[in-house]
Amino acid sequence: MKIIFAMMIILLSGCINFNVGINLPKFRYIVHPLSCNERKVINIWIDIQLKDIEIRQAISEWNYALNGFIELQEVAEPFEMEDAQIGQIRGSNWAILKIDGVLSPNILGRVDIIGGNYIYLEKGRISRERMKGVVMHEIGHLLGARHSGELLMSWRFREQFAQCIDEEVVEQVAKNNGLDWRSMNYCYYLTEG
Ligand SMILES: [Zn+2]
Repeated sequence: MKIIFAMMIILLSGCINFNVGINLPKFRYIVHPLSCNERKVINIWIDIQLKDIEIRQAISEWNYALNGFIELQEVAEPFEMEDAQIGQIRGSNWAILKIDGVLSPNILGRVDIIGGNYIYLEKGRISRERMKGVVMHEIGHLLGARHSGELLMSWRFREQFAQCIDEEVVEQVAKNNGLDWRSMNYCYYLTEG
């Protein structure tokens, strides 16, 4: 009897352990037909020290949200620019750069300015699980979005609500780029249960 009781406790604590990790809320995308209009292309140089697949996933997910109106394209050539050349990046060109210990201790990344050209990532502070969300947030800034609400563009990064590109950020980006947000793709989170 005692053994069975002990086993039950082990099983129970096993179940409890299962729930210790963050329970990520599920989400779904609202999808519209792909735009056949002429698209604006943004070329992105990614620091050679940033090999993370999650950065590429963040770019792909934005391309999905932008639905053909704007296309983000990683420049294929290896990133071997001198600092002076990096400083020349303008217009429809962006750079994603690795920094270490430059920003205040609790900051994960930043852009030069809203609608700017540079993303700086505090690589050592960003876990693999958070990287895609952080990069999607920063891309939102380069596309013109400001901090707002509790989801992707919240000033406070929460990975459970930075899993996808939501309606609020898409509305801001569409407005800033003269696009109709209703033709773009955006996600919404499903309530629990
Ligand atoms: Zn931000």
